[in-house]
Amino acid sequence: MEAMPSDDLIIRAVRAHPLRTALPTVQHTSQGAWPQLEIAIVEVETASGRVGIGECLARRGAVGYARFIRDALAPRLLGRSAHDRRALWQDMRLVVTGRLGGMLVESIAGIDTALWDLAGQAAGQPIWRLLGGIGRPRVTAYASSINWADDAQVEAEIARALGQGFTQIKVKIGAPAERAIARVRHARRIAGDGVKLAADANWAYDADEAMRVGRVMCDLDYFWFEEPLPPDDLSGYARLRQHLPLRIAAGESDFTARGVEPQLRNGTFGLVQPDVARSGGISETFRIAELAALHGIAYAPHVGWSGGVCSAASVHLAAAAESFLTFECMVFDNPLRQELTTPVYGDVAGLKDGMLDVPTAPGLGVRLKPGALERFAIAE
Ligand SMILES: [Mg+2]
Repeated sequence: MEAMPSDDLIIRAVRAHPLRTALPTVQHTSQGAWPQLEIAIVEVETASGRVGIGECLARRGAVGYARFIRDALAPRLLGRSAHDRRALWQDMRLVVTGRLGGMLVESIAGIDTALWDLAGQAAGQPIWRLLGGIGRPRVTAYASSINWADDAQVEAEIARALGQGFTQIKVKIGAPAERAIARVRHARRIAGDGVKLAADANWAYDADEAMRVGRVMCDLDYFWFEEPLPPDDLSGYARLRQHLPLRIAAGESDFTARGVEPQLRNGTFGLVQPDVARSGGISETFRIAELAALHGIAYAPHVGWSGGVCSAASVHLAAAAESFLTFECMVFDNPLRQELTTPVYGDVAGLKDGMLDVPTAPGLGVRLKPGALERFAIAE
């Protein structure tokens, strides 16, 4: 038997950092107002001193995520090879002996992305190339999101997005359905017919209400209808799909490929939107994207309120995924997205002709900005 190749990525330290920022402008969805955001950043360091970074979706309670990573996950990684991503994933998964999901998978997500960053650095190649290198040098982007706010604010935000060169825009809608119907009509009027419009309800309806809103969106030629129902109402989603000739989008609330596979196989979703900082990192999120491609379903990364590491990782996935549709380019100011890494990827500042550049440097292609961890740290 041949000897194993020498290993350049033996893990010697895992660090987790809970971060928080106040938002310059409070964001509004059907679920309420978001004045501040939290994330957790993971650093995985190898014996040779190389550091990979990843991000966990941890909007509230990021300190708890960081402690969980340090106490429960890090001990399973030390002394192991960062190359063995799948073995490490399976090992971390066993920390909680219940159905896979929630905080466990969001915590694994940050570590897994850091392992991919290390692998890319070691190979001297960007992650999108390690994923197969489909060769997409730039990715189409849409403006996300126009707030669920009064008409004057909505008009100003749509005008700004158009001014930035977007030809695809997502508007937030909510309850009551009558107000949402008026909003999707108003948005179409002011955006014009040439713009691809999508609407995101963040679970605001039951299936009957969603049907009413969705019918109007069909008439107005909307691009997709995102999370009209709570994510667990699968029979409601199936009914909508059966009766509405409209692309139903969901997946940001899902954790694993196995969890979302039935909706892909049945064609319930026309667009799946896993978040790399939630859905187990690049490994599991790319598996979802591959499954989607297999079933002829479009894929678009979810970025949402996440930070700059999630945003960069999402651009790699967008560049590599076969059925990629469009990139969620956030248009509100978020210091954790814009001031955490250098350079910044997936941000509106990099928009050219409605498209965004893809990183070319090895790994994720971004590093943490000096002082950023201290600047955003949550005191423990
Ligand atoms: Mg959404």
